[in-house]
Amino acid sequence: MTGAAVRRLAEIAAPERVLTDPERLAGYARDESPGPPLPPDVAVLVRSAEEVAAVLRLARDERVPVTPRGLGTGLAGGAIAAQGGILLSTELMNEEPQVDPDNLVITTRPGVTTDRVRRAAAEHGLYYPVDPASLEDCSIGGNIATNAGGARAFKYGVTTQYLRGIEAVTPAGDIIRYGGRIHKNVTGYDLCAALAGSEGTLAVVTEAVFRLLPLPAHRVDLLIPFDRIAQGVELILRVVRDARLLPAVVEFIERGGIRACNTVLGSGLPFPDAEVQVLIELEGNDRDQVLADTVHLGEMAMKLGASEPLVADNPTDQARIWHARRELAKTLKKLYSEVAAEDIVVPIAQLPATVAFIAELARRHKLTVIPFGHIGDGNIHVDVCREGDRADWLRGSEAFFEELIGFVLGRGGQVTAEHGIGLKKTRWMKRAVGPAELEVMRALKHAWDPDGILNPGKVLPD
Ligand SMILES: Cc1cc2nc3c(=O)[nH]c(=O)nc-3n(C[C@H](O)[C@H](O)[C@H](O)COP(=O)(O)OP(=O)(O)OC[C@H]3O[C@@H](n4cnc5c(N)ncnc54)[C@H](O)[C@@H]3O)c2cc1C
Repeated sequence: MTGAAVRRLAEIAAPERVLTDPERLAGYARDESPGPPLPPDVAVLVRSAEEVAAVLRLARDERVPVTPRGLGTGLAGGAIAAQGGILLSTELMNEEPQVDPDNLVITTRPGVTTDRVRRAAAEHGLYYPVDPASLEDCSIGGNIATNAGGARAFKYGVTTQYLRGIEAVTPAGDIIRYGGRIHKNVTGYDLCAALAGSEGTLAVVTEAVFRLLPLPAHRVDLLIPFDRIAQGVELILRVVRDARLLPAVVEFIERGGIRACNTVLGSGLPFPDAEVQVLIELEGNDRDQVLADTVHLGEMAMKLGASEPLVADNPTDQARIWHARRELAKTLKKLYSEVAAEDIVVPIAQLPATVAFIAELARRHKLTVIPFGHIGDGNIHVDVCREGDRADWLRGSEAFFEELIGFVLGRGGQVTAEHGIGLKKTRWMKRAVGPAELEVMRALKHAWDPDGILNPGKVLPD
């Protein structure tokens, strides 16, 4: 970037919000995916849609790439300025979200954390149910851009299902608005849906309106231990197909994950020897119904061979379980020198075969593999942890994932359920998406961003 372009940036935003110092840029050189740091040439911390528009117009004039960034918790390298240029951070666009209880919506700026959105809604007895495990650290703008899911997606779905209105800036520097405080809208093409999951490659989100729900009054979490993983998966299938139960959460944590939480976090979770623990959350407004469902679920589990479940029906026990669950990915990174992770999804009927295949593959490649996550959605996070020699681990994990992705695609699954393609997974795209579909995606990208300045190198393969 030229010095003149950096000076123009400082006229658009205040000079103190334009960073060129290598030490400060280092803080924007990574996200939470593995890989070497790639700092931008310059970072600009924007405060308004007008500033975003001016930055994008400057970038277009100068033919400089722009990488939008929320809070950098992405797991696919989407917020890394891999081709240099301008990193556009929305972290300061974080004014208090505005709840509109009469219309059951919340309006928020993109840099607000998901946790703050949820808390603001809860103050009005309302519920924003999307809760990625990173909720305290990630931004709602990042959630829109990745169409984030989370533990409660089983019952409540993912970000796009709550997105009712959006303000965004196109690469041409136009500020567009679509939808609003309305709960249904098919007026033309759905621009909310177009931007959800677009990973910062089509436009920069500067404001959003989300639908809220009533906050359920009662919840109970059950942590159900099984000696054999196949028994746990059988329970999961029965629960997700059960006409009576509609749990909010259907998760699993394999033994290595529980032990990691107990070792690193001192979580003191019970049953560390169980091969797998199934985490199910039941909730509702009728306390007796929730308790009756808890008993029903406990009986189902015990019939399948579970040990006595831990039933967490109070905030202290629930916090202990959820702290461990939410910290699990970070915990593995602390315990092992490196972790390579994928985020596969399969049709739920394929879960038994997929879980068995992962275990067999881990044995064959002699790797420490810890699967966990949102299994009720068919979504499994597969973390391959390094214990020994780096070169062996790299070779082994590469071969492991090659085979795993082949298996998943062969079973009607996909390569990512919620973390996105970003920079790191473009290598799977030609296998995961057909040539005609890829052409449509390229045409879509070209229509929004004809000069290719917004987050180049992400999502679409070369
Ligand atoms: C410990 C841990 C647990 C996680 N658990 C989950 C989980 O349960 N579910 C889940 O879905 N994800 C999870 N994630 C992944 C990550 O938190 C999500 O992808 C999150 O949505 C990223 O938000 P962010 O603000 O950190 O975005 P960033 O990492 O900053 O950016 C992510 C992508 O969004 C784009 N982007 C960011 N802001 C904007 C904007 N305003 N306009 C346009 N594009 C933008 C970026 O260009 C990039 O492509 C987890 C990550 C970690 C580290």
